[in-house]
Amino acid sequence: MPPQPPTDDFRDHLASVKQDGQRQWVFPKKPRGRFTRYRDGVAYGLLALLVAGPLIKINGQPLLMINILERKFVVFGQIFWPQDMYIFVLILLAAVVFIALFTVVYGRLFCGWVCPQTIFMENVFRKIEYWIEGDYTKQRALAKAPWNREKIVKRGGKYLIFYAISVGIAHVFLAYLIGADELFKIMREPVRDHVAGIGVLLLFSGAFFTVFTYLREQVCLVACPYGRLQGVLVDPDTLVIAYDHPRGEPRGKLRKGQTRTEGDCIDCLQCVHVCPTGIDIRNGTQLECINCTACIDACDEIMDRIGKPRGLVRYASQRSIEATPGQPVQKVQVRTVAYTAVLAGLLGLISYLVFTRSLVDAQLMRAQGQIYQVLPSGYISNLYNLKVINKAAAGLPVQLRVIAPATGGRITVVGGPLTVPAEGLADQVIIVELPPSTIPGPRSEIKLGVYGQLNGQEQLLKTVKSTFLAPAAP
Ligand code: SF4
Ligand code: SF4
Repeated sequence: MPPQPPTDDFRDHLASVKQDGQRQWVFPKKPRGRFTRYRDGVAYGLLALLVAGPLIKINGQPLLMINILERKFVVFGQIFWPQDMYIFVLILLAAVVFIALFTVVYGRLFCGWVCPQTIFMENVFRKIEYWIEGDYTKQRALAKAPWNREKIVKRGGKYLIFYAISVGIAHVFLAYLIGADELFKIMREPVRDHVAGIGVLLLFSGAFFTVFTYLREQVCLVACPYGRLQGVLVDPDTLVIAYDHPRGEPRGKLRKGQTRTEGDCIDCLQCVHVCPTGIDIRNGTQLECINCTACIDACDEIMDRIGKPRGLVRYASQRSIEATPGQPVQKVQVRTVAYTAVLAGLLGLISYLVFTRSLVDAQLMRAQGQIYQVLPSGYISNLYNLKVINKAAAGLPVQLRVIAPATGGRITVVGGPLTVPAEGLADQVIIVELPPSTIPGPRSEIKLGVYGQLNGQEQLLKTVKSTFLAPAAP
């Protein structure tokens, strides 16, 4: 008898890579069923939200903007400046803890239902592919066919549409980076005025086209860091898409007229045919599974046809699949409670920092190369550069006063009264004059207050400190 191929060689290589290292192109069968319908609904809702996002404004600010070039970040209409970066870092940390917590309990639910890669691949690009090239058997035949007229028309049309959609995604992506208003300017005005912007658009379009036309599932399998983390986040109590092997095994083909002695799996391979990453879920939880639910729908359809209960492949934890009836399954794990506590703490801290965040930031620096001047009145003057940042959406007139030393100090703003533009910065030269009797030494600390109108009342918005130079006492 010739040697049999090993049955668990799936552990040693990716289903989408051949033994010789070449790419094994995956042609998944078009999924259909209740989970596919639910996922379609969620996906199209999220796509609408994604496209509308840059157009939605809260207090005149976009819903979300991550402008790295101008170092301006807007989340839910709240502007975050480089000075607020610590809050932004905390928000990112909370997002990571949330994803980790979510994964411990619900596995890769994010990948299957919310991840933009899955949504664009399965609900946009793959649907167009089915529409143009037909289902998986036709796609496979077309891939093998020589470059005849049909193949050129179908493939050419597909790539054209894919590129047009990639350009669309690139526009949306850029709108999140620079804001919709800037994007519309790039679209309206002559190309020569926006060479960099157009270049970035072309770059993004090419990247999206490559990802969705060529890389596809490889992004989830090889490049995605979240996918790589599954091994440490998922445990036997995590909800995953699982094959009920005690019920399904031993698997065996369904034969007409024969009394069945095997398990419920009729080895029809439908769950394998629909899998976009090319794996067999009956081999157990695998890193390649993106929780797309296609195998649940495929198997439920088969179970309906052969008159068996649905759910041979279903959302379940490994422990619940292996539990004997009546055996209690632990629902809440210690690490779930710990992650929740950390997440609650982080959210509390972020809320506190956001709500107590100052709308004004200021910095006072002595003008370079200047020391002091003794005025005819006897006062000593020093020259400073004052920078005031206004994070609010309206211009802010500010007044400056000397706080320390406490008496007799005067401030002159070079160029007149100071108004800080909305979401802007005022960089102003100011002269501070102090009566000699209040100056403790040749090099003393000075403290100024930046005042402005908030909620109809004048308030101290910020205090700034610097050094005041004066002649040594005789
Ligand atoms: S679809 Fe269901 S019955 Fe068919 S091979 Fe997969 S698990 Fe077995
Ligand atoms: S195993 Fe099932 S859920 Fe996982 S990727 Fe394949 S079809 Fe989707």
